[in-house]
Amino acid sequence: MLQPGLMMDRPLLISGIIEHAAAQFGDVEVVSRETHGPLFRYTYAQCAARSHKLANALKGLGLEAGSAVGSIAWNNHRHLEAYFAVSGSGMVMHTCNPRLQAQQLIYIINHAEDAMMLFDSTFAPLIKGIAPYCPKVKSWVCLSDAANMPVIDGVSTLCYEDLIAPHSEQFDWPEFDERSGAALCYTSGTTGNPKGALYSHRAIVINAMSGCLPGILSLSPSDTILPVVPMFHINAWCIPYAAPIGGARLVLPGPRLDGASLYELMEGERVTVSAGVPTIWLALMQHVEEHGLRFSTMKRTGVGGSAMPAALIAKFVDNYGVEVRHGWGMTETTAVATMSCLSPKNRELSATEQHAVIARQGKSVFGTEIKIVDEYGATLPRDGVAQGELMVRGQWIVRSYYKVEASPLVDGWFPTGDIATIDAHGVMQIRDRAKDVIKTGGEWISSIDLENAAVGHPAVAMAAVIGVKHPKWDERPLLFIVRKPGKTVEREEILAFLTERVAKWWVPDDVIFLDALPVGGTGKVQKNDLRKQYGGVFS
Ligand code: ADP
Repeated sequence: MLQPGLMMDRPLLISGIIEHAAAQFGDVEVVSRETHGPLFRYTYAQCAARSHKLANALKGLGLEAGSAVGSIAWNNHRHLEAYFAVSGSGMVMHTCNPRLQAQQLIYIINHAEDAMMLFDSTFAPLIKGIAPYCPKVKSWVCLSDAANMPVIDGVSTLCYEDLIAPHSEQFDWPEFDERSGAALCYTSGTTGNPKGALYSHRAIVINAMSGCLPGILSLSPSDTILPVVPMFHINAWCIPYAAPIGGARLVLPGPRLDGASLYELMEGERVTVSAGVPTIWLALMQHVEEHGLRFSTMKRTGVGGSAMPAALIAKFVDNYGVEVRHGWGMTETTAVATMSCLSPKNRELSATEQHAVIARQGKSVFGTEIKIVDEYGATLPRDGVAQGELMVRGQWIVRSYYKVEASPLVDGWFPTGDIATIDAHGVMQIRDRAKDVIKTGGEWISSIDLENAAVGHPAVAMAAVIGVKHPKWDERPLLFIVRKPGKTVEREEILAFLTERVAKWWVPDDVIFLDALPVGGTGKVQKNDLRKQYGGVFS
């Protein structure tokens, strides 16, 4: 017979994170770039005290456990306080991506039944447009002080600072089941309506603890972390929870996410670790290269959300001494599910081979398991060659979508819609999203591999590849290029460059030069837009 364990049964709750930080790292700084005014500084202890004030205010407004509180906000200290106050009170923190189309925003706010919306003044025009269509939102609270409150015609707004001011710094967090809903994020819904992933306290806390591991982001009191990934994009990959768990100093970048502003913040605040999508790092690298700058404190950066090209990894590592940690995850996986990291054996490889290792999406983090399957659901070998749909399961993987009855799971695994390989060491590589794979003459071409090869050309800033219908081959690749400022490169040169790097039948049939690629709400190239405009038929 099983023996019952004799350890205490203390729940894993988000309130526990900020209380731990206040008690153990009470003097560690949180720095926040404000929407208005200079950098704001305080400590985890002060963050905890103000979270208590907000929790009291929420209670005072009649919100209850289970209520949803939305946010449309940048990464800043008030948003951070809401992360703890809302979830800590047993309510659901619903972070909304302001870059969604207004119709989608309205849909998710109504679907989540947000009773309150916290927003940054930047988004006042957006709020004006959506408020009339969100009848369940009783209070629109601007994350601002009284001096910087916007006036929004037709919407009665509350000022965050005024709201919390009269309330006590003492609050007794409720204790409840760690499997209760804590935070809600919706998928971006490129096909159909967005779907909600309701993260439990348990999932977030375990994931955030993993984020502190040395093989993941390695967050400790010796580090200063700057999450560039927005707090509305999968909870900034759980970094706002992980940093206070690990005791790392936290720097929040506010609304300024361009290369120059990020560089200034990294240097000024002596940031040692950061995290964001590849498009952010591309812009940062361009700024640093153009101005001949160096990083004086940055040690490593986490990257994910789309594939990080080996050419960009090489620049960070070889030219600037910044280690790249490349991870994979999706809205449905709370945050990171796999992560690349060099082993001592990898470090014996040539620099180029090491970058290729990092360009893969890595090993599953403890707490998640991965496998690949063929079209009939049969598990494929871990040989680094067989490719199939990536399936994932684990302690922080979605079981079902919010208010959707049908389960997305297949035999207890979540089908990701990504096509991947897994090698004998467990290293996973995303080959493509199933919908982006180019099917040509019965074979598959990975658009990611082609894009990564193209951005290896010194004149190429960004590249995207889509499949275009072809009467003979079914589909053929079409390449889009954005040139680096001041650089010239033409079709023939690009195609010749690729011919040396990929199989001959992979070489795109044509190249289109654009000033910019369409980029979506989470910094990813919108291939659907490209397909709509250019996906006709090759003759
Ligand atoms: P969306 O992109 O639809 O807004 P998510 O943010 O949940 O939604 O994106 C998850 C998807 O992003 C994954 O299924 C995968 O296709 C892609 N992705 C995430 N990380 C990586 C990575 N490191 N390399 C390649 N693709 C990635």
